[in-house]
Amino acid sequence: LKMILKDPSLFETRAYVAGEWVGADDGATFAVTNPARGDVIAHVADLGRTEVARAIKAADQAMKLWAARTAKDRAQVMRKWYDLMMENQDDLGKILTAEMGKPLPEAKGEIAYGASFVEWFGEEAKRIYGETIPGHMPDKRLTVIRQPIGVVGSITPWNFPNAMIARKCAPAIAAGCGFVGRPASETPLSALAMAVLGERAGLPKGLFNIVPSTKASDIGKEFCENPLIRKLTFTGSTNTGRILLRQAADQVLKCSMELGGNAPFIVFDDADLDAAVEGAMASKFRNNGQTCVCANRIYVQARVYDAFADKLAKAVEKLKVGDGLTEGVTTGPLINEKAVEKVQDHIRDAVDNGAQVVTGGKPIEGLFFEPTVVTGITQTMKVANEETFGPLAPLFKFDTEDEAIAYANATIFGLASYFYARDIGRITRVQEALEYGIVGVNTGIISTEVAPFGGVKQSGLGREGSRHGIEDYLELKYICLSV
Ligand code: ADP
Repeated sequence: LKMILKDPSLFETRAYVAGEWVGADDGATFAVTNPARGDVIAHVADLGRTEVARAIKAADQAMKLWAARTAKDRAQVMRKWYDLMMENQDDLGKILTAEMGKPLPEAKGEIAYGASFVEWFGEEAKRIYGETIPGHMPDKRLTVIRQPIGVVGSITPWNFPNAMIARKCAPAIAAGCGFVGRPASETPLSALAMAVLGERAGLPKGLFNIVPSTKASDIGKEFCENPLIRKLTFTGSTNTGRILLRQAADQVLKCSMELGGNAPFIVFDDADLDAAVEGAMASKFRNNGQTCVCANRIYVQARVYDAFADKLAKAVEKLKVGDGLTEGVTTGPLINEKAVEKVQDHIRDAVDNGAQVVTGGKPIEGLFFEPTVVTGITQTMKVANEETFGPLAPLFKFDTEDEAIAYANATIFGLASYFYARDIGRITRVQEALEYGIVGVNTGIISTEVAPFGGVKQSGLGREGSRHGIEDYLELKYICLSV
């Protein structure tokens, strides 16, 4: 991997703790494999609670001086960090593809997306305004200031090795907080490369820490039990989110949670079908179906069902599965064997209950899977209730608008939703009725740093991105002055 980088120093396998590049105290390392080829590409420092506690302490110390600097000053360092990420987009993309598997153009897209949060929140630092409130008594003057919440512990998954961390560290650091991030052990290299560039950009020693570790639950406990941590931010499954929320209760720790989704994608019979197919392809097959906003259930109105299924299958057959570093590949491997089994299980369950495979349906050697379209799906099948997190497009048939809304909302999740329609009355009714934090109307792509990303119901707490995203890292302080 080092050989194909313009700047080999971005390939870092040590942890970044208190502004130093270090190994684990006991010298432990873990292997990182390339999911497309199955070969080990790195041995990364495997930290434990002691080293993480050290990082937390350093972050607590560093943030005092950092928060005292002017917002403009903080913004300038972040702008530099953004510039460095963009200058090194190629190398960062290659590292990302090698450890995670997504095709290089997508990986580079993720770097730009991740960097955009660093740029955005650097700018937003300047707008952390307070308020004055007319006093409730003649001698009282009331003001409200917004201050950094404190050291942030972050736990992130493997599906966006750069952007998931960027979405958390950028608002934290802009607000003046110290940051300790534990990347998923499948994908620590992108996180460490970000730290290399953060150091170069001039982030003060100790403010930003990356603590790779295979001991996920130990690190989660350290974050929940260490009194210097004031905020836990997590992206991952709803189940792990629940565990962390329970653990966080002892310290009454503030938590932001970006949890699972089960996104509906509804195609009404007045939709532009070609546009709907394009949107479904983007929403379903991006990252090989491994995003929490991927369409998981595709509902198609009866009158256009067959036509849509046909067009979607044709588009799916054009996808090219392979190693993400090979030119022309649109679809990489799945992350591991368990992911392959889950897709297989969902297809098997559907077929056993009467569904038909239109295209694809089988695993390919290694961790690859044929992009798949299945028709005849019903609400009682596994795919209706669980996130597949893979390249399976299941098509449900519905008759009326009310039915589509009821099906779409029949889940504990509430992250992203999508629908295609033309009638303005219908568009208004449906966008208001969907119980989701995000609604894409006539589009399959909704992610941007300028909008608030987050879920309702059991999909999470808090929002990332936009002017709202920094709120999760600030506390209000109300000051009552008697004159
Ligand atoms: P995914 O299906 O994306 O792997 P998980 O919720 O299992 O979803 O994992 C998301 C992140 O949370 C990963 O980095 C994982 O290592 C970490 N994790 C899993 N279980 C725990 C736990 N009990 N405490 C802290 N982190 C955990």
